[in-house]
Amino acid sequence: MHPTPAILLSIDYEPWFALTRRYDTLYHPDQRRKLDGEFTLRAIDPILEMLSPAKTTIYLVGEIAEWYPEIPQKIVAAGHELGMHCQYHRPLIDAHELELDLAASNKWRSQYNVLGYRAPMVGISEAAYPMLETAGFAYSSSIYAPSGHLLPKGNIHELPVSTLPLFGHPKNFVAPRDFSVKLLTGGEVPFGSSFMIGLMPDAILKILEREIRAGLSPVIILHPYELIRPDSFLRRIGRDVASHPLLFPFTLNKSNFLKNLLKHFPVSPLYPYIQAATAS
Ligand SMILES: [Zn+2]
Repeated sequence: MHPTPAILLSIDYEPWFALTRRYDTLYHPDQRRKLDGEFTLRAIDPILEMLSPAKTTIYLVGEIAEWYPEIPQKIVAAGHELGMHCQYHRPLIDAHELELDLAASNKWRSQYNVLGYRAPMVGISEAAYPMLETAGFAYSSSIYAPSGHLLPKGNIHELPVSTLPLFGHPKNFVAPRDFSVKLLTGGEVPFGSSFMIGLMPDAILKILEREIRAGLSPVIILHPYELIRPDSFLRRIGRDVASHPLLFPFTLNKSNFLKNLLKHFPVSPLYPYIQAATAS
């Protein structure tokens, strides 16, 4: 069946400090929770309000469910799809790291019957798919590729975050396909990334309009700190942005973009799209 075109909107619900990568190796749970400073708790109600009545997929970082068990409850109660981003935010391309993360997140994923996975930094290896299948996932959305692809990976599916191919259509969708120089030099603009949304929000809205008209359902990503500002956000991440200027687009407020998106386009979570696309 061909699903009705919609923007497949996802929010990778992570602490503000996931952006900087400086705390990837901070392991102490209390220190991590303190660093979040209740941002993830404070942001959830306003973000759910901004989204309402649209339904999206919210890929949650599992440690947030440990800090504030009411957050996954609120996401589900508001009618959104609850997915998993990871248990602790760090690269999970390495199969062993992913295995540890899947074991650590097993409890809350089972409790909520989580079926969707979005890899941190949209970075995944082919070895991950059988592991995700064994862990009970039905799909992953962890590579970049042009809209309109739903890739079988064993018994689960990969629904890529959208790119716009500028010169011809790519044919090779082997993971990893992350936001890299290789992707860009291959002529693909990863417009589903909130990096691109930060750089050119109006152009992205135009691309979305064109894709919907063409019958496609593009997948895009936003983050909580792009919609609700953490306390002293720019002061706290200024040093990281100064040394890694490519972080800058992630620090921009995208609540206006979201408002425009919700006003002009139909929006859907990812899993119902996959169910419709695979129904015979
Ligand atoms: Zn992330």
